[in-house]
Amino acid sequence: MKKSGKNNKNEPEIIARPAHTVSRADISKSALKVLYRLHKSGFQAFLVGGGVRDALLNLHPKDFDIATNAHPEEVRALFGNCRLIGRRFRLAHVRFGREVIEVATFRASVDEDEDHADSVQDDHGRILRDNVYGTIDEDVWRRDFTCNALYYNIADFSIWDYAGGVKDIERRRLVLIGDPDKRLREDPVRMLRAVRFAAKLDFSIDPSVSSAMHKLADLLTSVPAARLFDEFLKMFQAGYAEKTLELLREYRLFEQLFPQTSAALDRDDTFLRFVQSALVNTDHRVAAGKSITPMFMLGVFFWAPVREAAATLRAREKMSESQSLALAAWEISGQHQARISIPKRFTGPMREMIALQPRFEVMSGRKGLNLLEHRRFRAAYDFMVLRAEIGEVDPETATFWTDVQEQSAEQRLESFKISVDSGSKKKRRRPRRRRARTASPS
Ligand code: ATP
Ligand code: MG
Repeated sequence: MKKSGKNNKNEPEIIARPAHTVSRADISKSALKVLYRLHKSGFQAFLVGGGVRDALLNLHPKDFDIATNAHPEEVRALFGNCRLIGRRFRLAHVRFGREVIEVATFRASVDEDEDHADSVQDDHGRILRDNVYGTIDEDVWRRDFTCNALYYNIADFSIWDYAGGVKDIERRRLVLIGDPDKRLREDPVRMLRAVRFAAKLDFSIDPSVSSAMHKLADLLTSVPAARLFDEFLKMFQAGYAEKTLELLREYRLFEQLFPQTSAALDRDDTFLRFVQSALVNTDHRVAAGKSITPMFMLGVFFWAPVREAAATLRAREKMSESQSLALAAWEISGQHQARISIPKRFTGPMREMIALQPRFEVMSGRKGLNLLEHRRFRAAYDFMVLRAEIGEVDPETATFWTDVQEQSAEQRLESFKISVDSGSKKKRRRPRRRRARTASPS
């Protein structure tokens, strides 16, 4: 274990239990179990990060991170339900049913001029590996924002504040620990985290941080595409998607992730309204505890570029609108993979949802009726309703599809102008009646 020693002169401000509002009732039973067992086994054990921050803000934290001086192998020896993960950071994950408690060993930040096999940086200063263990008073300096660097000590329920996090929480300010320029170069994802926390906590980004962000937005392209997708999920599924988009655009970060969407948003106000409306819906769903799917949001982001690419394809060769949309969705998501890698389990359904859009124009006959049974119907319908909001789909069409979902099987046959006989399997030897006209409803 290597100690850098450079920050050891710092003493934390220790806030005793009566002087703060973090109570054990805010902490999940599983997290408490891990904290207590580490403590009883002679290790230091602190709750750190969002759990402490959100509890101080009365936000009912859901995610609990623990910091300890126990090494990952020692943590594993204490818990049967424990797995060691990660290369960049080696972490222990202790599992209780569906809940995972992340246990990290204190780490030292490493000076650039020191040579460490366990710590590596690239040419821009980005940290590639970071596994030098340390003490709590070293660990604190490698955390990102002061509000994320508060340690709740299970030994006496006090909070240790080295970096002024409590004061910054009171002022609702996101302040990076150390030199913002250096800290953002080390890990450009911190720019996305700044935006995510600003949106979620309604904090302002400290001017020292925002000016560095304006300068360094481009560095996001050096971050592995898989990590950016993870961060995309966290940013847009937390219930503050609309605000997040606004901030990402303000800091020119959105264009690093979704360049084509970003360009379309800049030039097309109608598309902007479409995207905003989708994000507002998403935020409402999250607030109501309803499920959301990232593929829907990706479909929304890609819609303008996909529609354009589909038109180009149709101009070039003969194909149906649906085919061209499916192909264009494939092309556009493929063009993004190097930047933000979207797993197939999302791009597949997204393509289906987009390709179904022209089918909503078919409001009679079996083909129309069958759309209701399609496995992507629900998402495609929601998507179509959004399109109707911006005038891309006739409001009557949207109403038709809203209504038929409520109807009985019989009523549906009528709505889709399907004669009852044509549906029954045991057909009489009666000449088949002509299918009702598909022309506009009388
Ligand atoms: P939430 O869980 O609500 O998203 P959080 O602050 O707990 O917020 P996590 O990603 O769970 O975020 O990380 C836990 C803690 O680890 C953070 O509070 C911070 O102290 C530290 N941390 C996480 N990511 C980074 C990073 N990229 N750079 C520096 N410190 C980080
Ligand atoms: Mg957390």
